[in-house]
Amino acid sequence: MSLENPSPASPRYVGRLAPSPTGYLHLGHARTFWFAAERARAAGGVLLMRNDDLDRARCRPEFVGAMLEDLRWLGFSWREPVYSQSGRIPVYREALERLHEAGLIYPCDRSRRDVAGAVGAPHEGGAQDDEPVFPREWRPPPDAKLPALPPRDEPITTNWRFRVPDDGEVVFIDNALGRQSAVAGRDLGDFIVWRRDDMPSYQLACAVDDAALGVTEVVRGADLVRSTFRQILLMRALGANAPQYFHCPLMADESGRRLAKRHDALALRTLRERGVSPEALLRQFHADAKAD
Ligand code: GLU
Repeated sequence: MSLENPSPASPRYVGRLAPSPTGYLHLGHARTFWFAAERARAAGGVLLMRNDDLDRARCRPEFVGAMLEDLRWLGFSWREPVYSQSGRIPVYREALERLHEAGLIYPCDRSRRDVAGAVGAPHEGGAQDDEPVFPREWRPPPDAKLPALPPRDEPITTNWRFRVPDDGEVVFIDNALGRQSAVAGRDLGDFIVWRRDDMPSYQLACAVDDAALGVTEVVRGADLVRSTFRQILLMRALGANAPQYFHCPLMADESGRRLAKRHDALALRTLRERGVSPEALLRQFHADAKAD
């Protein structure tokens, strides 16, 4: 796999929009993407479009068209082509093989529920949908013989986890939030890189893509800070440089709850049908960002 920037003539700043086609985009997504677009514009750079469509159960093709249309309606533009993750599985598979060759992954039968049960309640301050910390006692000893991956033409039917290095703290400087750090074993456990339904995890696919597509700054919601530590570890293990990060504040509804795709009233399509103009939304984002 080449982790090099595929386009030698690319600008210095490469950002990306990475929506998941699991529902209609809402105001919260639009605001995150507005931050990404503003960062790219200020740096005279470009944005790429990544379609995060690996979740077979939740992604639907009609949402892909809808999200691109909604983002165009808002006035965002990006450099073609659109990168669909479902079309890049061989690239992720190659990365998995490299991690395997380096002895950095292992097969694991523990379910998400086992892990959640072992650690009790999710830790304080942890993002809602963050994965619980995998207990170290459950990892195979470092000298255990590593089973082979199935041949490429056979499905992977077990989860494979990345062995988070034991050497303490992972640190990065976030361009919005400042210094961020996580301690291996306490905040970060071994995490899944390939799932038993034969799909790469979000962590692996995202790390491989951000490196392979030459992204220089990742702009996304603050709920993904913990994922950033994992993705930085994967990039290091794959010999790639990590990009910069800018995690923007999440938008909440009137009762302080984080916006989710089920907040249909705030879906961009609903707002558009009600006659809200893209300019009005963008003006609001500008005003909110100034007020923060
Ligand atoms: N597709 C992910 C989401 O919508 C975002 C991933 C990312 O920005 O890395 O939550």
